[in-house]
Amino acid sequence: MRALIIEDSAVDRRIVTKNLKEWGYKFSVTTNGKDGWEALQAENAPKLVIMDWMLPDTEGVELCRKIRKIQGKPYTYIMLVTARNQKRDMLRAMEAGADDYLVKPFNKLELKARLIAANRILDLQEKLIELGESLRFAATHDNLSGLWNRGQILDFLARELVRANRDDKPLGIVLADLDHFKKVNDTFGHLAGDAVLQEVSKRMQGNIRAYDGVGRYGGEEFLVVFPGCEYKIAMRRAEDLKRLVGEKPIMALGEKVNVTASLGVAIAEPGSDTSVESLLQKADQAMYAAKRKGRNRVEGSGKP
Ligand code: GH3
Ligand code: MG
Ligand code: MG
Ligand code: MG
Repeated sequence: MRALIIEDSAVDRRIVTKNLKEWGYKFSVTTNGKDGWEALQAENAPKLVIMDWMLPDTEGVELCRKIRKIQGKPYTYIMLVTARNQKRDMLRAMEAGADDYLVKPFNKLELKARLIAANRILDLQEKLIELGESLRFAATHDNLSGLWNRGQILDFLARELVRANRDDKPLGIVLADLDHFKKVNDTFGHLAGDAVLQEVSKRMQGNIRAYDGVGRYGGEEFLVVFPGCEYKIAMRRAEDLKRLVGEKPIMALGEKVNVTASLGVAIAEPGSDTSVESLLQKADQAMYAAKRKGRNRVEGSGKP
């Protein structure tokens, strides 16, 4: 655990730092409110602050209020240390946002005990953040493939389409459907089919640019969004994807499986105000045309 100590008195600073060192804490020290505030703006700023009430440039309670106004950062645990021992002061500190209040001169064990409580709160917070992150991941990703799920890739498409319209840029999409996938399941089993889907997903994810998006649109269907791509380029990208899926057999549970995909390309032309629905419909029609024409191929919806 890393702590920030904001204390202008050299004597008090020494007491706190000596103890923290002894208990294995990492810490940084500032001697006024301004420097303390700056230290808290840094990326990965300490989440535990031990702060004096009387500082040369501000009052600890003021700094508490300021820290509590910061939004979107993990919680900072504030321990206010002061010689003021009026009950009224303690209340003021807590109202200003301090988590704990320690009266000088304090006993070493008292500080240690308070730090145990602080660590407990900060550990809980970390667990909550992790839980929130894993929930968010689960809500936006497909369990089997690790790709974005249908909702997420559609959200991405909607957002990028708005941006493309605003910036007068094209946007391309590719809908890819694996060919005769039922046969893969029937021949090698559903688990091998799952492994094939995972490998196809990996190949797709590994070969798009950072600002493109790919998601699992349905069972064995993938939707890829290429912001800024005009028709010719999107067709070329779709050919790349087709090759990636089909060129090397996939090892699935010890079986060598050959899969191919049929891909449909559609474009939202700059300034065309194309809707998500009509774009998807065009890609879908193009994909079905690829199926009709023999599979393992790319068809485009044509330039509108
Ligand atoms: P086509 O070339 O016309 O697309 O033939 P297809 O067999 O791929 O088409 P169809 O849509 O009839 O079948 C899709 C198959 O994909 C059926 C389904 O069992 C399989 N599938 C869908 N999701 C999963 C999955 O998560 N795991 C596995 N193993 N198979 C899946
Ligand atoms: Mg002071
Ligand atoms: Mg399908
Ligand atoms: Mg299919």
